[in-house]
Amino acid sequence: MTVSARVVIGVAALTTTLLLAWQVARRSADHVVAAGFWFDGVTFESPAFDAARGGPLSAAERAAVESLARAELAAAFAGLRLDVTAARTAHYRVRVVQAFQPRQAIRGMAVAESRALGALGGEGAIDFTTLAALAVRFAPPGTARADLVAAIGRGIGRVAAHELAHQILPRGNLHATTDEASYDFGSIDRAGQFYGPMHWHFAGPRLRDVLGVRAAPAQ
Ligand SMILES: [Zn+2]
Repeated sequence: MTVSARVVIGVAALTTTLLLAWQVARRSADHVVAAGFWFDGVTFESPAFDAARGGPLSAAERAAVESLARAELAAAFAGLRLDVTAARTAHYRVRVVQAFQPRQAIRGMAVAESRALGALGGEGAIDFTTLAALAVRFAPPGTARADLVAAIGRGIGRVAAHELAHQILPRGNLHATTDEASYDFGSIDRAGQFYGPMHWHFAGPRLRDVLGVRAAPAQ
């Protein structure tokens, strides 16, 4: 497939007057909110990966993509009062699909999107095919096959973290940063989405404020 130069992360936000009440309730005591993350019927077919590596992802590699994505997502929220689960009924939800349907009304190509639902949390989706193609495109020369597989999982987990941040922080501009090594950055069309370390920038303190920080284990 051809990867468009224009890659945008779309988000449509719905806010309700219940949002503030919900946020106050969430701060209480030891509340931990759940986020659901799952692969929704993904076949893991990737023409870009096949073309670069001469064959499809193996069953073991597919499992690795999924587990690495989950681990990356959990790492993004480590220390905060948010549990990453596979529950499809969780307050915040992000699912990975094989590919978005073409939508001619949208200029460019959305690869991930979320809707903030106020007191009802939020829901989002990620396009596996495009993420895999971008991991291939940004792979440094000589990247080992296993490292490319890991980069696909890493990139998916990181965009899932970005989408959850849209749901958790529906107000304000999540994309204010110019730090390409941050989860907040407004495009996944960058090597840092897949390779190298990543951190929260402006969203970090906002997420800590809304979600709360986990208490340190008793000594
Ligand atoms: Zn975004």
